[in-house]
Amino acid sequence: MKLETDSYKRIIENLHDGLYFVDRDRTITFWNNAAEQISGFSADEVIGRPCYENILTHVDDGGNTLCMGMCPLAETISDGENRSAIVYMHHRNGHRIPVSVRVSTLTDKAGNIIGGIELFTDISNLEANELRVKELEKLAFLDHLTQLANRHYVEREIQNRFEEKKRYNMPFGILFMDIDYFKRFNDTHGHDVGDKMLRLISKTLVSNSRPFDIYGRWGGEEFLGIIKNSDAVELELLGNRIRRLVENSYIIHNGEKLNATISIGAAVVREDDDIDSLLKRADSLLYKSKDAGRNCMSIDSGLMPWDA
Ligand code: GH3
Ligand code: MG
Ligand code: MG
Repeated sequence: MKLETDSYKRIIENLHDGLYFVDRDRTITFWNNAAEQISGFSADEVIGRPCYENILTHVDDGGNTLCMGMCPLAETISDGENRSAIVYMHHRNGHRIPVSVRVSTLTDKAGNIIGGIELFTDISNLEANELRVKELEKLAFLDHLTQLANRHYVEREIQNRFEEKKRYNMPFGILFMDIDYFKRFNDTHGHDVGDKMLRLISKTLVSNSRPFDIYGRWGGEEFLGIIKNSDAVELELLGNRIRRLVENSYIIHNGEKLNATISIGAAVVREDDDIDSLLKRADSLLYKSKDAGRNCMSIDSGLMPWDA
């Protein structure tokens, strides 16, 4: 069976996965419909521009920017090897989306590498998150500015985690987060841009959370994450990943790239904890992070004094 070029084009335009082509200089030459939907950038906005120019600006798990040399696409164009990886893509609205990428080369008839192809799948539980927002709204547990769960819901869920701990001995931890120097951010850029930053950080939190974890807005610029079934090691990994993704989430405002950082207090539930003692410990760990210079995380091990 021989397909016409138009048929191929229609197929790749309508793939469920994002797909784009670049030339050897990583200038984008093709961008399909799913790439538009996942990234928020239209084909018109990106074709003819290099992908590292504030478009995708992939970062890895450690928050390292991959655009300046280490990106899988650049490596594949240089050595001809196919690659796959999980990276965190910049969405047009500013937040970070986890995507699974597969890259390969684009060659001419003689087999010379003339560019690269990246196929990417959104792995952020987008549909589950949309359902979650509807459900929270119905029950009056939605924070409208950020689209996160509100404080009442977070408190209720912490109580539920305590019940699970009592019945099934299932451990959990909380991440208490506060934006650094946010007053200064508002004063410099205005309250509306501050609100945009709150929304962006919230979107990065939920887009990168595990389906069974919950992130809510605790107060003005404070967030709380409830991390199910986790010990101190896992909580530390997860908290630091979120912290770096927030640091690497940005908006472009009047041509300027704006980001914000968060400080975190991370507490693992202890045998003798109740909701107040757990929150109090997370709060003092948060202040320890502020004192240590901000954009960092402090964690307690969750062990009883006699276990340590
Ligand atoms: P620190 O690093 O110590 O946390 O400094 P900070 O300036 O973030 O802390 P502080 O608690 O003094 O200020 C919190 C600021 O957060 C004050 C307020 O303007 C801002 N804020 C709280 N809620 C909102 C909101 O809904 N929208 C906006 N734009 N700003 C908010
Ligand atoms: Mg605060
Ligand atoms: Mg603050």
